[in-house]
Amino acid sequence: MEPLRAVRGMNDVLPGETPSWQRLEAAFSRMAGLHGFCEVRTPYVEPTALFARAIGETTDVVEKEMYSFVHHDDALTLRPEGTAGAARAYIEHKVHDREPVTRWWYIGPMFRAERPARGRYRQFFQAGMEIFGDPGPACDAELIDMLMGFLGTIGVREAEVLLNSLGEGESRARYRDALRAFLLPHQDALSVDSRRRLDTNPLRILDSKSEQDQEIVKTAPTILEHLSDADRAHFDGLRRLLDGLGTPYRVEPRLVRGLDYYTRTLFEIQGAKDKLGAQAALLGGGRYDGMIESLGGPATPAIGFAAGIERLLVAADPPAVKRVVDVLVCPLGQAALSKGLELGRELRRSGTATEVECRGASMKSMLRRANALGASIAVVVGDAELSAGIVQMKELAAHSQQAVPRDQIVALVARRVAELGGAS
Ligand code: AMP
Repeated sequence: MEPLRAVRGMNDVLPGETPSWQRLEAAFSRMAGLHGFCEVRTPYVEPTALFARAIGETTDVVEKEMYSFVHHDDALTLRPEGTAGAARAYIEHKVHDREPVTRWWYIGPMFRAERPARGRYRQFFQAGMEIFGDPGPACDAELIDMLMGFLGTIGVREAEVLLNSLGEGESRARYRDALRAFLLPHQDALSVDSRRRLDTNPLRILDSKSEQDQEIVKTAPTILEHLSDADRAHFDGLRRLLDGLGTPYRVEPRLVRGLDYYTRTLFEIQGAKDKLGAQAALLGGGRYDGMIESLGGPATPAIGFAAGIERLLVAADPPAVKRVVDVLVCPLGQAALSKGLELGRELRRSGTATEVECRGASMKSMLRRANALGASIAVVVGDAELSAGIVQMKELAAHSQQAVPRDQIVALVARRVAELGGAS
């Protein structure tokens, strides 16, 4: 029978890879805690209308990439990103009534029916943060600076911040008109999607994946030329703060990103282009000062970002040596098995990660397994030695062996594991 396979674009993370995931997740939650963010967990499924309203009807995500379905009479969608759900929860639980500023972080799977490629999946994980109630630009600068520090700690080199401002309603409306006027004479050369968006959402054309469209927009007017005084002051303020922090960035006036909700600050951090190629956007974010109100909450400024975990893992340094357990207990012969299990239990109680080889294997194959598990010590339990009250302790890296009294082995192993830099 043909074996079943995972859904295309959805990946298994096997135990060989989970230590890298755990390390990254721990680093992220630690950084979040250091900056006063609390973890929020929202459902993986939300009403379809939430994404249509928050992300924008005419975005690629909403038009083409959502996993939507109707269950009984409810139109539901597997969340394609985390901000809309967080905003909904913020409003639904009236968090704004209790806290002037709210800082949340999350990690979890997102779902988009995109064409799978290296670094682009249909189920992927994002780690993100949202700040509600702070108009910036100081917290915008804090986030960007924090992210560059974070990328450094996980070993991502050559990360680059791309920065833009999309302005607010008035600036956007003026820019939309200017962009449409620029694009109209080129409309026959635009892709079908972009031609359609000329009326509905011309800003999206700047973000088109079509090479032909990209060629045309290269010379288009930029939003920065159309910012209102207040928007300009916000952007200049952010730039000054980043300069003051010594955080480098490149102003990229045609950066728009795929979600419609952004206002003012918009950023993307790219890195590891050699490994990620076209998918080098490690994370992206920006302000969405209008979203809370448009979803039925009080007018509340907000900013957030989301980083793709799979891409960060490719870009980051690999973790140090793989270590599943510190000790493999090797019982020699059936009679020693129960003594081996007992010793395993004692070692674990003393805090040493231990596996007991239960298959009745040969010495050679047990030692091979100890190495494969990354153990630093093998404790050989044989009938003859046990009746003499001793076990054999082998240090694998040093290829050394010593006879140790049974009643001293647990303490000695714990000490040696700590000296050798063990996992437990
Ligand atoms: P976005 O939510 O589109 O702003 O994307 C934020 C980040 O999530 C990107 O910079 C990527 O690192 C990651 N990301 C977005 N879409 C995908 C995908 N289909 N597969 C893997 N990572 C993704």
